[in-house]
Amino acid sequence: MKSGEFDLIEWIHRRAEKGSLQRIGIGDDCSSITVPSDYELLTSTDLLLENIHFRLDWTDLFQLGEKSVSVNISDISAMGGRPVCVHLGLGLPDFLSDAQVTEYLDGVFSALRRYDVFLAGGDTCRSSGPLMISITVQGLCLSGRAVMRSGALCGDDIWVSGTLGDSGLALRFLQQKKALLPSLANRHFRPEARVALGRVLGEKNLASAMLDLSDGLAGDMRHLLRASQVGAQIQLVHLPLSEDFKKFCDAEPELFDLALVGGEDYELLFTSAQENRVALEVLSKELNLPLSRIGIITDETSLDFRDADGEIYAPGIKGYDHFASTEEHHFG
Ligand code: ADP
Ligand code: MG
Repeated sequence: MKSGEFDLIEWIHRRAEKGSLQRIGIGDDCSSITVPSDYELLTSTDLLLENIHFRLDWTDLFQLGEKSVSVNISDISAMGGRPVCVHLGLGLPDFLSDAQVTEYLDGVFSALRRYDVFLAGGDTCRSSGPLMISITVQGLCLSGRAVMRSGALCGDDIWVSGTLGDSGLALRFLQQKKALLPSLANRHFRPEARVALGRVLGEKNLASAMLDLSDGLAGDMRHLLRASQVGAQIQLVHLPLSEDFKKFCDAEPELFDLALVGGEDYELLFTSAQENRVALEVLSKELNLPLSRIGIITDETSLDFRDADGEIYAPGIKGYDHFASTEEHHFG
């Protein structure tokens, strides 16, 4: 950052749009939003560090701005809430030019507009090391209706939105320095938070437990099962895969495991009582978003993936370890 911190904050302040629930915005010691009666406030923070969560040589700064907002907002959706505002903490290294900072912030503001979320405040300083970004998002849900990871019950269906593994496949191609299809690149660099779905699931009480997929289906499913103290059986034939993903799997079948262990899909994974099946199929059509019923919650403690013959399938652990040890960690 070449220009002064105060100039930058002033510039951010001028660009920030006021939100409908905003009482006090940028410029004071704290921000304040109105929490309507019957609602509770959800808050989540993500820390994104250069060379840990992203690499500047792979990432366009505008897309990094968008993605840093989207993955944070996804956490509010994963609780069944409606995102309202974010706070943005920036540690800016000297090697970043003003134009690069502007490009990053253009991405941030673009995503904020898309989700109808406002920038309520933040903090800005120089970094003597890497680029550091900390985003805190706040949102609202009806009091007592936050959908936690711990609510899954034996017999509940397991559902997932969108398609699985595309982002992990893109990351693998990046690591192997292979050319990326634009559709796959978008799934990795420009994930879309499932805001409409998360909000409706919360408001209509259609999910017993939920989280957003950042670590991969297998890993995130385990988080949910541990929190709910239940087990699950997942049918591999029901996993939703994009046409691109299927095409690469046909050529290289072991890539299929990325649907299980590839991270950063930012789809919503949730459980729901079987009586909600029709309501969820209707909702999928209304939102024009695929919702796939991939398995069932059991009273065991294990997570079983079953192949088409009913046999237990273990994802190639090597693939998982390989991903866990890369320089790039998953966003929040
Ligand atoms: P303080 O000394 O109280 O931390 P600052 O000078 O850091 O105040 O910030 C002034 C105002 O600008 C505050 O309202 C703060 O929330 C806001 N602000 C600072 N940095 C950012 C940023 N990166 N994004 C949004 N708002 C910011
Ligand atoms: Mg400050």
